Amino acid sequence: MRGLMMDMPLTITSIMQHADQNHSQGEIVSVTADNPDHRYTYADAFRRVRQLANALAKKGLRPGDRIATLAWNDYRHFELYYAVSCAGQVCHTVNPRLFPEQIEYILNHAEDRWVFVDPMFVPLLEKLQDRLPAVEGFVVLTTGALMPETSLRNAWAYETFIEDQPQTFDWPTLDENDACSLCYTSGTTGHPKGVLYSHRSTVLHTLVSALPDVMGLSSASVIMPIVPMFHVNAWGTAYSAPMVGAKLVFPGPQMADGETLTRLINAERVGYSLGVPTVWLALVNYLDHTGKTVASLKTVVVGGAACPLSLMQAMERHGVWMNVGWGMTEMSPLGSLNYRAPAQYDWEQHRIDDMRVRAGRNVFGVDIKIVDDSGAALPRDGRSAGLLKVRGPWICSGYYRRDDDSSVDREGWFDTGDMATIAPDGCLTITDRVKDVIKSGGEWISSIDIENAAMAHPGVKEAAVIGMSHDKWTERPLLLVVPNTDVVVQEQDVLNFLKDKIARWWMPDACVFVDTLPHTATGKISKKDLRALFKDYQWP
Ligand code: ADP
Repeated sequence: MRGLMMDMPLTITSIMQHADQNHSQGEIVSVTADNPDHRYTYADAFRRVRQLANALAKKGLRPGDRIATLAWNDYRHFELYYAVSCAGQVCHTVNPRLFPEQIEYILNHAEDRWVFVDPMFVPLLEKLQDRLPAVEGFVVLTTGALMPETSLRNAWAYETFIEDQPQTFDWPTLDENDACSLCYTSGTTGHPKGVLYSHRSTVLHTLVSALPDVMGLSSASVIMPIVPMFHVNAWGTAYSAPMVGAKLVFPGPQMADGETLTRLINAERVGYSLGVPTVWLALVNYLDHTGKTVASLKTVVVGGAACPLSLMQAMERHGVWMNVGWGMTEMSPLGSLNYRAPAQYDWEQHRIDDMRVRAGRNVFGVDIKIVDDSGAALPRDGRSAGLLKVRGPWICSGYYRRDDDSSVDREGWFDTGDMATIAPDGCLTITDRVKDVIKSGGEWISSIDIENAAMAHPGVKEAAVIGMSHDKWTERPLLLVVPNTDVVVQEQDVLNFLKDKIARWWMPDACVFVDTLPHTATGKISKKDLRALFKDYQWP
């Protein structure tokens, strides 16, 4: 027997209309290239969203068309998210930090018809535009008065593009499975791959991400996403904040700048924020060096890469609790979140420390399992490490225009490319990426665990472990460290420090100090580049 409830499509339009009606006075504060202090309300934002939708329709853009953005987190980018998706088009957020050849590939692969671009990325597109045949025009995210001189064809200033457009728009009725946005993964091997989100996947992800034991968002929240809107939709916050009426604070191009972040947190009373470990490292360094405080900031989500305990402790000294989240572009991105369950309230400190660096439990809606090389499920015993597979309504079932991909198996499980253990209580621990795994004498060594242990040494600013070939053991770990210049430290000190913190056979065979470590376009340490840099390394 079928139920008798209404079959209402789950669409981003419904989030927008709900926010417009119920949270019209909620605020959005932005730093932009042309204004360090822009503020307006959700009502203002959605009025301009309707103007932008009219402007896009006048250019002949139709449902299903892709529209690209190369932009930082700010209110105009927010307007694009809603105008494009709710009109039935696809908002394609492009990471401007990728190599120009990758950006060219992505824009052509998606066949974007228009590109909306922050002024600082105009020179980049001027060089590429002759190789972007599908692009009809460019809109620079600024005012007519501040519009830069540009050779871009059919170039508009955003404010000129939308001015004089009607403030009403007749939103189309969409199918909840229609595409709404597109984001390419950095693609450490081969070409970047497009993850095409649907309205339904986005709404379900939004609902679950706002839950109390996930992000715990409400109309009283002030949220600052420091994760870019060009990387998995700022982890969904551009949807979850309006859904509940939270105030949104956008740092614009100043995402890794401790001073701007501190100013925004204090001026806007930001209580909740999200970012990769590198961002928090920058904030802690700034606070430690200036003696400034961030009293309103209580909780942050850290994800995208493993977070060392030492960084969590440093943030806690400034009154900020860090929750580890795990996910990926293909998962919208939320897979798991590590929150403190009541059973842990009276745990001893060492147990809490051991638990809090892990990836936490999978959220409702995401199924997880670990499998061995033959695909057989491994036990949830907290010890067996295997390939992590996932499935759920906001996990990709295939990549955009890539029929050759086999990431989803016949039973519908997506291969994350991560190695993990799952404890009997459901807690997930990511031990490595499969391609970064170190196999020594037939056994796996977790580079993440060694890195986290090394990061606790006060003389270590950043650490990375890679597997180097070894005559006897096939591979052995090599530890690379960016030393902290405030502390006198030798390579051997770091190795000695690790002795009682990791298994004996995990001990790196050598530690090498370096000035910097290579990072990817999303701010993570690039092990691929590191392995290339050290390919001729000889063990001492
Ligand atoms: P990119 O490929 O650009 O790094 P993603 O954001 O999709 O883009 O990266 C997802 C990957 O990041 C995961 O597969 C995992 O390897 C890593 N990751 C994310 N969160 C964590 C975490 N909490 N701990 C360890 N690794 C993480």
